[in-house]
Amino acid sequence: FESDVFDRLFCTPRTVRGALWSWAAPAPNNCDNSRLAGVSAAAARLLGLPRDAFTRENSSSPAVWSGCQRLPGSRPWAHCYGGHQFGVWADQLGDGRAMSLGQVRVNGGCWELQLKGAGPTAYARFADGFAVRRSSLREFLAAEHMAALRVPTSRALALVYTDRAVVRETPEKGAVVTRLAPSWLRFGSFELPAARRDVALLRQLADYLIKHHYPELLLPGSPDDGSSASVYVRLLHAIAQRTADMVAAWQAVGFCHGVMNTDNMSALGLTIDYGPYAFLDAYDPAFVCNHSDPGGRYAFDEQPRVALWNLIRLAGPLAQLAGDGGDPPSSSVVDDVTRTLNAFRTRYSSCYADLMRRKFGLLSQARDDDVEIVIQPFLDLLERGRTDYSFAMRSLCDVPGLLMGMADSDGPAGSNAICCPELDRHIDALAGRSRALLACDKDVASSWRRDLHAYYVNVYRPRLQVEGDHVGAAMRDVNPRFVLRNWVAQDIIERAEHDITCIDQALELLTTYAFADHVPEHLADMAERYAGPVPDWGEGLQCSCSS
Ligand code: AMP
Ligand code: MG
Ligand code: MG
Repeated sequence: FESDVFDRLFCTPRTVRGALWSWAAPAPNNCDNSRLAGVSAAAARLLGLPRDAFTRENSSSPAVWSGCQRLPGSRPWAHCYGGHQFGVWADQLGDGRAMSLGQVRVNGGCWELQLKGAGPTAYARFADGFAVRRSSLREFLAAEHMAALRVPTSRALALVYTDRAVVRETPEKGAVVTRLAPSWLRFGSFELPAARRDVALLRQLADYLIKHHYPELLLPGSPDDGSSASVYVRLLHAIAQRTADMVAAWQAVGFCHGVMNTDNMSALGLTIDYGPYAFLDAYDPAFVCNHSDPGGRYAFDEQPRVALWNLIRLAGPLAQLAGDGGDPPSSSVVDDVTRTLNAFRTRYSSCYADLMRRKFGLLSQARDDDVEIVIQPFLDLLERGRTDYSFAMRSLCDVPGLLMGMADSDGPAGSNAICCPELDRHIDALAGRSRALLACDKDVASSWRRDLHAYYVNVYRPRLQVEGDHVGAAMRDVNPRFVLRNWVAQDIIERAEHDITCIDQALELLTTYAFADHVPEHLADMAERYAGPVPDWGEGLQCSCSS
């Protein structure tokens, strides 16, 4: 089976029934002139690999991480799954340009290594199986950045640039990302066998997922929702809880995924398939980052609802396995599933509230109405001003010190008359990063400033009284100074064509120093630029699915 002929046969696009994967083979010529463009030392550490396996000087690295040189013992495969794309059942999709090299078991963990962009697989359908540099660099940086921001995510180990011509709207050059996750199973992995009524395969898949990734569900007497539901409903519950945590983290950090199709929803609650994603610049709940989503199905503030919609798609297959397997499922299965889906909302709301409380420095006490009373009114002001979200949250870290430093003699606590020049300067800085205020008349801008001032003095300051003035440092740990905004990604993509080492610097800035006020000398220029305002050309950049 080790011949090129068979390798090519593996990669013939086809419908695959009765199986969850097919052998795959990297395109043999994908390494021509390839070079290592980026390496994540943090991801290498996860695998227990020595750092020098990945230096640019190590000449075998590009060959290995573009797929041209096989790792000993590795036999690549591609996963067969289906999915709902933009609300429509798409039937078989599968890994069209991703292939798994194998699993690395290390330090009690297990990582499945995947190459993305190494050539077509059985699931490439009408597409080429390759990936362009811009989207590969975006995925490589985003995965490692999100991990540094403590958002549940797949990881990226290496980025290789090839000289392959890859044609999109225009001819571009190719790249391969090596990415890692404990498993790449998706909601769509379950939907496809269920749609084909292949219950045996579906059960095999669910049992595999439980055994290897949710073993706690098999411990006697430990259903974590306290119910006596079937293990498959409890699996749904566990996936829903992790999905809630992931989406809450997205909303808190201002991350818009862009293509929340069910084939892009991880069965482990990890952010996967970084495509046209974006971090918010101006705070706009209705922001749509995907140019191919004019209806705004995947708008920023739709994400929690879409996650639930996707979980409902997953619930169907898992309900088929629960109970007596009847179709439709018995009413007790339906009740259990309904409870599980409702638990998603509860988990999402409490996780979001916890993350936001930390961002606002509300550390010692959680009040039920914190989101309503303290957090949402601030976000409403940001929306009105179209204020830069990450900048506003980072600047907010200064505010407890300013407010709590204001003596009560400045005015009675809670008085709008309190005057503090530093607070005014802070409000000026926020106004300077408020797109709607820069474009409007002076009255609108000054009423926004007054309202923000009133919010700080009358709402935020009284709530902070129970916290003290020391919360700023902890807030700096959860409100990043650097985020991988679209214009930042675009800037790195362009610079990397002339100076590939800027990828190392960007990775370091966006991971090790994402929360840092001070960066080492070699990152100083980049830090100043990327902490600065969005340049005119970078306003409202959108990416499409074409990558
Ligand atoms: P996405 O929207 O990026 O998650 O992709 C949806 C489906 O299209 C998945 O099955 C991908 O594997 C497949 N796909 C996207 N781009 C390509 C490509 N260039 N070559 C082969 N398959 C692709
Ligand atoms: Mg995908
Ligand atoms: Mg994709």
